[in-house]
Amino acid sequence: MRGLMMDRPLQVSALLDYAAEVHGAGAVVSRTVEGCIHRYTYREARGRVAQLAHALGEHGIGRGDRVATLAWNGYRHFEIYYAASGIGAVCHTINPRLFPDQVVYIVNHAADRVLFVDLTFLPLVESLIGRMPCVEHVVVMTDAAQMRGTALPNALCYEDLLAGRPAAIDWPELDENTAASLCYTSGTTGNPKGVLYSHRSTVLHALSVGLNAASVRLTHADRVLPVVPLFHVNAWALPYVAPVTGAALVFPGPKLDGASLFDLMDAERVTASWGVPTVWLGLLAEMRRRNAKPAALASILVGGSAVPRAMIEEFEGWQIEAIHGWGMTEMSPVGSLGIIRKDQDGKTPEERMARKLKQGRRMFMVDMKIVGPDGAPLPKDGIASGELLVRGPAVTGGYYENDDASRAAFDGEGWFRTGDIATIDPDGFILIVDRIKDIIKSGGEWISSIDLENAAMGHPAVAEAAVIALPHPKWGERPLLIVVPAVGATAGKDDIIAFLATKIAKWSLPDDVVFAESLPHTATGKLQKSELREQFAGYVLPTARKDR
Ligand code: ADP
Repeated sequence: MRGLMMDRPLQVSALLDYAAEVHGAGAVVSRTVEGCIHRYTYREARGRVAQLAHALGEHGIGRGDRVATLAWNGYRHFEIYYAASGIGAVCHTINPRLFPDQVVYIVNHAADRVLFVDLTFLPLVESLIGRMPCVEHVVVMTDAAQMRGTALPNALCYEDLLAGRPAAIDWPELDENTAASLCYTSGTTGNPKGVLYSHRSTVLHALSVGLNAASVRLTHADRVLPVVPLFHVNAWALPYVAPVTGAALVFPGPKLDGASLFDLMDAERVTASWGVPTVWLGLLAEMRRRNAKPAALASILVGGSAVPRAMIEEFEGWQIEAIHGWGMTEMSPVGSLGIIRKDQDGKTPEERMARKLKQGRRMFMVDMKIVGPDGAPLPKDGIASGELLVRGPAVTGGYYENDDASRAAFDGEGWFRTGDIATIDPDGFILIVDRIKDIIKSGGEWISSIDLENAAMGHPAVAEAAVIALPHPKWGERPLLIVVPAVGATAGKDDIIAFLATKIAKWSLPDDVVFAESLPHTATGKLQKSELREQFAGYVLPTARKDR
């Protein structure tokens, strides 16, 4: 028997419409590329989104057309999200930190018809436009006064595009499975792969994140600053979640260093902020320097890479809760959140810390299983580790126009392979042990590079650490630790190994420690281990030398 309820489609435009009506006075604050602070409300944002939607329509952009962006976090970027999806076009956010060749590949693969670009990235677009024949219009995201001469033929000015158009619109009714946005994974090997989100997946994902609004401080009383870029998996859904919960959005623009973030958070009384660990290293250094915290900051969500214990402890020392999140571009992206229940997640501070170091519990509508090499499910006992597979309405069902990658991504039952190795404990907490390709296979045992890195980060002389596997004649692989020393610090190899020996089992200690000025990162801020593996390809561990 079928239910007898209305079959109304889930549409992204409904999120902002709701914000405009229910949280109309909610603030959207942006530090602009031009340098000033721009403020308006969700109600005003809705008006400008309507104007942009009309402008897109008049330029012949409609259903299914790809509308690309190369831009920082700011109100105009936010407007493009809603205007493009609202009319049934697809908002394709491009990561400007990718190699230029990858940007060209992505634009052509997506067949973007319009490209919106911040002033910062105009030179990049000017140099690449000849290789992107699909792009019919480039819109510079600024006003007439800031519009500089550009070599681009027919470049349009964003504010001119909006001027004089109606600030209201009746959105078209769309099938909820219509594509709404597109994001390519940065892909450490091979070409980037496109994940094509639908209206339905976007709304459901926003609601599932929004269920945790009180715990992660995303209520209408909060002010959230997404450090995570709008060009990286929709800023982890914040531009969709904040409007429905009513939280104010504070966009940081191009300046993401510790001092700039501190100043903006402090001035705007930001209560919560989301970003990757490297960003928080910068903010913490600034807090140490000033011996102060941004006035209202109460919660940090850390995802993208594992969070070292030292980071959680330092934030907590400032009465800032550090919440661990895990996810993937393919999962919209939030898969789990480390929200600690006082009644069941540990009696002592140490027990609770053990939980906080895990990647949290699954989101509503995300199913998880771990499997062994034969694909058979493993117990959720917190001990067995295997590949983590997921499914749910906000998990990708296949990459955009990439059959090979799609075929490899799912098991026989249609679950998505995350490529992460995890344990799941009886209370539902997952622990990401490592990426499958990063784990060190030493004899019959596996050594987690994440464990070693996090332990090393606890040493005061270590600013950043990476661990890779190197070949070993007896054990197959053994770990090499690469350390970026903290400013002004001097610690030697023996000192660091002795420190690690107090934290981790002897057999998993690194066989060698080398020092580097910096470590390579991917366009999304993760350690780029593939490059480290290349750099150290000829390196022979002292324990592996023939003369030993
Ligand atoms: P990219 O676009 O660079 O692939 P994603 O955000 O999609 O970026 O990367 C997803 C991967 O990042 C996950 O599969 C996992 O390996 C890693 N990751 C994300 N969050 C965490 C976390 N909290 N702890 C450990 N690893 C994480």
